[in-house]
Parts: sequence; C-alpha cells; structure tokens
Amino acid sequence: MIFEDDNPHEECGVIGIFAPNEDVARMTFFGLYALQHRGQEAAGMAVADGQIMSMHKGVGLVSHVFTPSVMSELKGHYAIGHTRYSTTGSSLLRNAQPFMIETMHGPLALAHNGNLINSAELRNELMEQGVGFSSSSDTEVMTMMLARNGERTWEERIKHAMKKWVGAYSLVILTRDCVYAARDPWGFRPLCIGLLPSGGHAVASETGALQTLGCEAIRDVKPGEVVSLSNSALKVMQAHEPASPSAMCVFEHIYFARPDQTWDGINVHHVRQRLGEELAREVQTELGNEYGDVIIPVPDSSVPAAIGFSHVSGIPFNDGFIKNRYVGRTFIEPTDSLRKRGVALKFNVINENVRDKRVVMIDDSIVRGNTTGPLIKLLRNAGAKEVHVAITCPPIAHPCFMGVDMGRHEDLIAYQKTVNEICKDVGADSLTYLSVDGMMRAVQRKDGFCQACFTGQYPIPVDLTNVKTGFERVTK
Ligand code: SF4
Repeated sequence: MIFEDDNPHEECGVIGIFAPNEDVARMTFFGLYALQHRGQEAAGMAVADGQIMSMHKGVGLVSHVFTPSVMSELKGHYAIGHTRYSTTGSSLLRNAQPFMIETMHGPLALAHNGNLINSAELRNELMEQGVGFSSSSDTEVMTMMLARNGERTWEERIKHAMKKWVGAYSLVILTRDCVYAARDPWGFRPLCIGLLPSGGHAVASETGALQTLGCEAIRDVKPGEVVSLSNSALKVMQAHEPASPSAMCVFEHIYFARPDQTWDGINVHHVRQRLGEELAREVQTELGNEYGDVIIPVPDSSVPAAIGFSHVSGIPFNDGFIKNRYVGRTFIEPTDSLRKRGVALKFNVINENVRDKRVVMIDDSIVRGNTTGPLIKLLRNAGAKEVHVAITCPPIAHPCFMGVDMGRHEDLIAYQKTVNEICKDVGADSLTYLSVDGMMRAVQRKDGFCQACFTGQYPIPVDLTNVKTGFERVTK
C-alpha cells in the first residue's frame, strides 16, 4: 500500500556519466542517491564498456536495489541511471527503467523523465508495423523508435525521432560507446551537465546530483539540444529548434526539485523563500495585520517558504510537524486501527509549539485535498486555537500531461470547489492561495514557464479527455 499523501508525483530522475578510468557504476549509484527524491519506487542503471552493456533495475530505493554484489557486475566507463515514481504493484518492475534492447546498430538503453503526449499514437504506429511491447511506458516507445530508425549515426537517429516526439522529455541514452542526453524543445523538465574532476562529463536531472559527483562548469542542457558524452570534449548539437517561449515546469520550483537545485540560473531554495514572501503580502491584504502567532511549515518543501513568510509578516517561525522521513511505499498493510490514524502515521505534532496559538500553516500545494484536513485536525488536537492555511501556489484545477501525476480533473479539489468551499471542507479558519502573478514574481520570470495546472493554458495542445500520463493510472 501507499501511505496517503497529497503530493503530486513525478516520473522521475535521470543521470548519465562518461568517466574514463573510473568506477562509473559507483558514481552513478551516488548520483541516483542524490536524485532519490524524484522517485522512490524503482531504480535502475545500465553500464557499457565500449563493447558489452549490462543492466540492473529493481523495485525499491536506490540503496536497496544496488547491493555490492550487483554493483560488482556493472563494469564500464559509460552509464545511465534512473529513479522512478511508479504505479501499482504488478507494473512496478515492468515499467522500471532503463529500457535496454539489442538493435541492428548495437545495444541501446534509455531512461526518461517526462511524458510524451502523443505516445499512444506513436505506439499504435509501431504496433501496426509488428513491434511488440513488454511495458506500458512511453520510454519503451522511444527506445523502439530509435532502434528501428535507419539513419546513419545515433545522433541522427535521435534528431530524427525528436521531430516526432511531442511533450516532455529529459532523456539519457546509452550505446556501447557513448552517453547521449536530450531535452525536449519546450524544456519542460530540467537537465544539466557538468565536467567531472577526472575529465569526463555527467548529466543529471538536478545540479545537486552533479555537485555530489564533484562536477564543475555546470550548465543546463538547452531545450532541443542533444549532447554526446564520449571523450573529454562535449559534442553539442541543436537537434530541434527550441520552442519560443519555453515551457519549463514551474512546479519544479514549488515542490519537486531539491532546494539546492539551480535551474535556468535560479536557485530553488531562493524561489521558495520568495514564494513565502509574496504569499505573506497577499495574506496580509486578505486578513489584515493580526492573524497569527506562529508560522508552521508542512515539511519539507514548505520550510523555505515559511522562512520567507515569517520574514515579511514578522510572525515567528517554528517547527510544528515532525515528519517520519522513512515513510514511503511499503508492502506491509497497517492494521485497521493504524489505518484510521492516516497522516498521523507520517506526522507528529510538537504540541508545545502550537498549543493556544493562532497557527499559520504553510504548505506547497493542495491537489486532491486529502491531507490538508487531517493536518489541521492534528494541529487542533494539539491545542491550536485557530488554523489559517496559506498555500505557496495558486489552486491546482487542471491535470498535468507533461509527466506529473495529479490525477484527472475530477480528482482535483480546486476543479470541483471554490476556495471558500475548500476552506470549509478542510476545516481551516482561513485559506489563502498565492496568485499566479505572485508566483511568477517569486520565480522572477514573466514567461518561459508552464503554468497549465493553474491556468488551464497548456503550452502544447492536449487531448483533455485523455489525461492518462503514459499508459497507466496512478492510485494514491
Ligand atoms: S502542468 Fe503544472 S506540473 Fe505539469 S508541466 Fe505544467 S506547471 Fe508543471
């Protein structure tokens, strides 16, 4: 079972490394370890030595999947890796990445973060040509498209396939003697590259993973770019014209990325602090000057915002919730009496910090609305006098088609209800969401970001009747 939470989920974190004379599997392990927050349900790695490619993937955390004996079998200078947020039990391993196949051009492995919105169409085309699939993942569709492509080099095959791929993809691709990284023309998902101390290069979803490996000269892989990592000099090709404006996912800043991530030159922690500052100004307009005694963040991603909120409002910040950081997917069912405890399995309250106080609870988002109410209840049970909820993004009223699982329209509480109705539903004394303008002021960009889950204005046309992200449905 999955402990109930109300966070949107994303597939996934990727890494690719070329490091001559290094234990590249071990480096990939530590890179994946730094990307664990982007997917905790499956992990995988493929390694090549110039001739032979080997792979291991499994269900669970990176440290569970890769034991010392598994690692000792993964030899070579080229590697790609993946951490995955996944779905229900039976499909967990089937959809784990990388996908590795033997092709007429040699072995090939792919790992992907994002979602192709035309994958059903592309999959049908391939099936009509006699191609079979072993999974429901769009990554397998991409792998098959590259394998069947008749162009002369892998770069040309990738460039050719990119003309047909529509949607979000930050990809790492392994052949027997090269690692490629490719980013979609809109730049939906992050992907960055850096120079390793040994002279090789690494590419990863987040700068934090590259810093873990000691990388320097880190920069973003640009939208539409394909980068080849196979010797000390990087080979860079603008394989597809970048979209104008770009459509980077603003939710990376609000929730997904680790606070040490720098994306498009902007540090995530600082954005989150500014989200809190903007929100404090908007709450003040709504509630006046005297509405709270203590700012309590819902850990972990709301902590920087709570600091910013406190700074502007002058209301002291304190810890109120202690989160069990080790709660995730477990295959042990809780007893009925434990199940009833719901979010209390994940959070405890420091009673002394909230008792008799007007609490301002800061959270990064409300998706389905199934944890806000229980969290408020925990605070009230601990003696809070009032609970005012402040959310560091606008209401999420539209699903994501670009790789983030938020469910369908009917799953989203802000699609179904007004802010007042939600406030009543969750049992808060007040509920304030940050405005779209406030959010963009915090990001310090006027455009270039996707905001579709808030505004319903998708940067690429989507079929609103088909919200399945890929070919699967996530149950939270
Ligand atoms: S719809 Fe929302 S979550 Fe999806 S890419 Fe756009 S901003 Fe990100």
